[in-house]
Amino acid sequence: MSVFDKFGLSQELNSTINSLGFTKPTQIQEKSIPHIIAGKDVIGESATGSGKTLAFGCGIVEKVVPNAGLQALVLVPTRELAEQVKESLKELSRQNRVRVISVYGGVSINPQIDDLQRGAEIAVATPGRLLDHLNRRTINISSVKILVLDEADRMLDMGFIDDIKQIIKSCPKKRQTLFFSATISSNIKNLTDRYMNNPIRVSAVKMVDPKKLKQVYYSIAKNSKLSLLAHLLQHENSGLAMIFCNSRKTTDFVVKNLRANRISAIAIHGGFSQNKRSRTMQIFNNAKAGALICTDVAARGLHIENVSHVYNYEIPKDPKDYVHRIGRTARAGEEGKVVNFLCEYDYDNFSRILSEYREFTIEKQEKPALQQVVVRMDENNRRGQFHRQGFNNSRGQRPGFNSYRGVSKKRQSL
Ligand code: AMP
Repeated sequence: MSVFDKFGLSQELNSTINSLGFTKPTQIQEKSIPHIIAGKDVIGESATGSGKTLAFGCGIVEKVVPNAGLQALVLVPTRELAEQVKESLKELSRQNRVRVISVYGGVSINPQIDDLQRGAEIAVATPGRLLDHLNRRTINISSVKILVLDEADRMLDMGFIDDIKQIIKSCPKKRQTLFFSATISSNIKNLTDRYMNNPIRVSAVKMVDPKKLKQVYYSIAKNSKLSLLAHLLQHENSGLAMIFCNSRKTTDFVVKNLRANRISAIAIHGGFSQNKRSRTMQIFNNAKAGALICTDVAARGLHIENVSHVYNYEIPKDPKDYVHRIGRTARAGEEGKVVNFLCEYDYDNFSRILSEYREFTIEKQEKPALQQVVVRMDENNRRGQFHRQGFNNSRGQRPGFNSYRGVSKKRQSL
């Protein structure tokens, strides 16, 4: 007998959950599954990694029936999350003979149209692409009985509000609506007031367990950040590390320079194609150790297990992003460490985090003695310099470009 039995789930679903190795419901599952199974509208305040997919997944799997059209629609902010939620729902519904598909932008629409024509009971979609399919009439949502908005706050941050309203209006009025969001802002509240039916609000209060998660910071000059990062990656006993930057440019700079210093590192940000992003995630997920350099696109929704360290190479502007970043580690009872690098331009952002989340204890660390590392400027910078200087040779090439492979070297000062 599993502890999930108390929710009155079907035998099939119980045994599937058992076989996935989940022995105890998480806080959000404990609080939301009874209402979801009872068919109530639910607002779940909980972060990524809290187990919310399984919570709404239980409701979906128990309610959809094979060959009765598209009955469950899950809206998510990013294509990565669409893939992950699809995989989780597939696992959960493996005894039910229902099809789960994902629909998201950034990839060709035609294979999705073919996929939709084959029929599915459950769809996981990003709002923009779903709307595109609705306008082309390549998806039919008239039989949807469960609508889920996953990471609703993120979708609103990304400017999907009008798309979401239009999608909700296109769904049947008689339906169950579930909202999951790390924070319930006034914008979310407006949506839930307008489109939900007497919703029950539940929250999983503790997003990170402070006993499991150590947070520290270093005060450091901007041009020493890379040396410190290289030092810590080499000296801390870390497994998988995620290194967050605020921009694609910094992400590219950091990954290139870690590699130049023989530290294995891969990058993911919104500028990469879907294929490249999927491949990168696969490599990182299969690895036991290594560094993933990323922007906040990667902070949300990705199911990456066993991240031992989160490094904030730059402190995010929005305190909520900090919470999402640190939520990548110390998951499912494991321990984790968050290391913040603060230079002059990070202090305002850092103060905002401390005043918003007073419960956080972030200890100052003394800078260790650092080895100099080689720093390479990126190709664009170098080209920019040449452009500014009008510095081409007679064949229109930039001198030294080939020999440096587009990078220039200088020693980073400590
Ligand atoms: P979320 O992104 O909130 O859906 O959280 C998903 C993560 O939580 C995945 O890594 C799951 O394996 C894990 N998870 C879900 N339910 C449980 C549970 N009952 N016990 C332990 N881990 C769980």
